[in-house]
Amino acid sequence: MTARVRYAPSPTGIPHVGNIRTALFDWLFARHSGGSFIVRVEDTDQARFDPNALEAIYASLRWLGLDWDEGPEVGGDYGPYVQSERLEHYAKFAKQLIDQDDAYECFCSTERLAELRAEQQKQKQPPRYDRHCRELPDDERAARGAAGDKPVVRFKTPDEGTISFDDAVRGHVEFETATIDDFVALKSDGFPTAHLAHVVDDHLMEISHVLRGEEWVSSTPRQILLYEALGWTPPTFVHMSVILGPDRAKLSKRHGAVSVLDYRDQGYLPEAMFNFLGLIGWSLDDHTVLMSREQFIEHFSLERMGKNPAVFDLERLTWMNGAYLRELPEERLTALFTERLERDLPADAERPIDRDVVRRLVPLVRERVKKLDELAEMTAGFFSDELPYGPDELLGKKFRDDRAGATAALTAAHGSVEALAGWDHAAIEVAMRALADDLDVKAGALFMLLRVAMTGRAVSPPLFESMELLGRERCILRLANARDTIK
Ligand code: GLU
Repeated sequence: MTARVRYAPSPTGIPHVGNIRTALFDWLFARHSGGSFIVRVEDTDQARFDPNALEAIYASLRWLGLDWDEGPEVGGDYGPYVQSERLEHYAKFAKQLIDQDDAYECFCSTERLAELRAEQQKQKQPPRYDRHCRELPDDERAARGAAGDKPVVRFKTPDEGTISFDDAVRGHVEFETATIDDFVALKSDGFPTAHLAHVVDDHLMEISHVLRGEEWVSSTPRQILLYEALGWTPPTFVHMSVILGPDRAKLSKRHGAVSVLDYRDQGYLPEAMFNFLGLIGWSLDDHTVLMSREQFIEHFSLERMGKNPAVFDLERLTWMNGAYLRELPEERLTALFTERLERDLPADAERPIDRDVVRRLVPLVRERVKKLDELAEMTAGFFSDELPYGPDELLGKKFRDDRAGATAALTAAHGSVEALAGWDHAAIEVAMRALADDLDVKAGALFMLLRVAMTGRAVSPPLFESMELLGRERCILRLANARDTIK
């Protein structure tokens, strides 16, 4: 079996992580089975179309490395892959449904439908179309058409019976036909509803499996009615569980960032996001947490998709990101860090960012950053001599009441740095420890003073390695500046 799966985004807003997780599972399933991953743009809701959304969808797929075999930009044998360019197909099958008496034209005005809904609400009945146009006499229908009234096409839902399907995640699912009204298949502007569009496209594109969010379960019986009426075999449905926030409510904007591009901008790695999303609602076993792309492709299966809602745990993502940052090859990290620093460092940092300095910084900071957006602040002192500290930060608790002691320590450090024979972190450390002894101050107190003087921050990469990287001259300059600060 080679799967043909499609990711079918509606470009009406910036895609949510849950939406991109669907794309990831589609892609994994296709790659696992040696099948095809197809992108189809479902832009039938013209009023809500947002071109930025489309760009964000493509950018999200590219960032995660989810390449598509057929779809916009790459083409394929089943195109076009944008629904607004496929209207003739929907019109053709809507007409077929009417011709075979499985559908009819409905001329009910929006006002009439609104009144009907209001009345049903008052009677505490579920909203449903009352089939007013189902038995419209032919001559009246023709007259309305001739008068220029634009009808919708409604499906003639059978009065009784059950519709069922076997969902790959949820098992056997059944609906009573009586709960389904005569739904719209084609709108009056010639655009299809999602029901007709899915069915026609999934059939014509020979889609084998439909992976989508569980909010689509209740639409599935309508689609099955269409498949049956058109004489087609439905694909296998795979309805995935919703993603919840940590408070167990459906993940939404109020849980913070919900677009993968937001996470990209915060400095999460695509490797980490891939791994993280791949384990929301799917698992290899009950303990494996870090998995490579290749392992996911090798092991992905519908059988291990979870039925229960999965929780989006940001702490876990951040932890994973740290793990990936520690594992990435130095070259890749140097490139990533350089790109990030180019963007994030303040304007006074020299551009282009010195890649060589970044390379030497990598081993010093890779264990300390969990997200790339922490990098600029942590390393600004290596790219600019304007350090953001004042006397309070410099003196800290230890020297707050002992300015003279701080000045003496900085002067002595200056002398010691100047006199050092070599310039490597081990030698610097030996000298600074000796200095603490000479001055009779605690090593920790002296090192904190030096740390702020050298890097501008109380939290920094390791002190002696940082000094080595800064170079002797810059260290001397910074010690002098620190003295001036407390004068
Ligand atoms: N366009 C739908 C969505 O964005 C896709 C539904 C489906 O995959 O069948 O949710």
